[in-house]
Amino acid sequence: MKAFSYKTDKGILQIGVEFEDTFYNFSQAWELYKEIKNNGRGPRLNFLQVMVEADFFKLETLQEVLVTLKEEGRLSDLELKNTFTFEPPIGRPQKVLCIGRNYKEHATELENDIPEEPLFFSKAPSAIIPHDGVIRIPDEVGRVDHEGELAVVIGKQARNVSESKAMDFVAGFSILNDVTARELQKSDIKAGRPWFRSKSFDTFCPFGSFLVPKGAVQNYNNLELEVTVNGDRKQHTSTSQMIFKIEEIVAYISKYCTLQPGDLIATGTPAGVGELHAGDIVECKISGIGNLKNRVE
Ligand code: MG
Repeated sequence: MKAFSYKTDKGILQIGVEFEDTFYNFSQAWELYKEIKNNGRGPRLNFLQVMVEADFFKLETLQEVLVTLKEEGRLSDLELKNTFTFEPPIGRPQKVLCIGRNYKEHATELENDIPEEPLFFSKAPSAIIPHDGVIRIPDEVGRVDHEGELAVVIGKQARNVSESKAMDFVAGFSILNDVTARELQKSDIKAGRPWFRSKSFDTFCPFGSFLVPKGAVQNYNNLELEVTVNGDRKQHTSTSQMIFKIEEIVAYISKYCTLQPGDLIATGTPAGVGELHAGDIVECKISGIGNLKNRVE
């Protein structure tokens, strides 16, 4: 069960779900479910971010709604047949945080030391683009790299949480491409400046296509991650190779800043980062989570 945000051909934002290999309009499914079960009472659900912020984004909820409608014979009317465009699962997170050097081979390929504790930095939320959105390389910025990463979406406010409780604060998983102006990042590091600007150009944060509820991803610490450019494999690993596991990352960050529902954490990229050029198609895939494909201009 995978959820997503999309815009209809009339420009209306809705929540979609992939259920039994078919895409459905979940916002409408929810309206029918309320009629059947609760005389139409209950909130409207047009934004995935609102569903996450209300701590309402659960595998059980999605399943209950779709199975009920299927049993009532009303699900097939909600199949998405018209064209639609993907929107980012969460459009306006308060924070986009990224973990640096969380795979050993990636740290060494860029001649960096293996960190002894998680290293995190932020990326401007205004850089977010959806699945099928276009990555635009700014003029004269030099080398720009792809970095495919498993993304965690926070579901509940988390402050100073323990590793053993950390997953209670996670809503689900997605994919984030931590696009980076590499030469600018290197020169900033050399000058003792923050990484922020090299990570935060507009369009440098492709995110999506799906948000998969935590309950549907039991093996999040052992997922296959692959990045291709124009169909050629560039990055390939398992999330089991992360130096710091998701529980450690969430607990660690929550010691320094309160994580809010909808916040994104990109958990680091494996070896094989490489340059993007205008005309390229970059695609990140994670088993059980989906794919994130973007064209470069
Ligand atoms: Mg990264």
